[in-house]
Amino acid sequence: MALRTVREIGDPILTKKCKEVKEMTPRLKSMIDDMFETMYAYDGVGLAAPQVGVLKRVVVIDIGEENGSGPLTLINPVVTEQSGEQTGSEGCLSVPGKAGDVTRPMEVTVEALNENMEPITIHGKELLARALCHEIDHLDGKLYVDLVEGELKDVEPGEEEEQ
Ligand code: ZN
Repeated sequence: MALRTVREIGDPILTKKCKEVKEMTPRLKSMIDDMFETMYAYDGVGLAAPQVGVLKRVVVIDIGEENGSGPLTLINPVVTEQSGEQTGSEGCLSVPGKAGDVTRPMEVTVEALNENMEPITIHGKELLARALCHEIDHLDGKLYVDLVEGELKDVEPGEEEEQ
């Protein structure tokens, strides 16, 4: 495994639409391992492939068992249902040192493939719903900064949950 460089806002790769994954390959598997390692190294709760410079529809999430999910690998994820609303602070590893309030669904259902290319369905609420929406947005070239209500604030490193 290896740490990957996290692309930061201003890098055009973060605004591109990612391609669907057709098959699992050793190369892709090793990218997923690297994404987990990179996410943990930066204390993130989620990371999308374009953040490490790869335009494929792959995200990893780990909000912690105590918050409702251990490590999740989602390939070609699609939000199939959503309900409710929550407004809360959000950050992103690609926008270091910043946070802002974003309104997201309170609950979402996501269909995806796991790392073995088997179909899975994830029901997420609260932080997991927020992380799922944030990461899936990355796959369509969207950053949370465009959804922020009010000001983008400066934060101390480690103060916010970064995605
Ligand atoms: Zn992000």
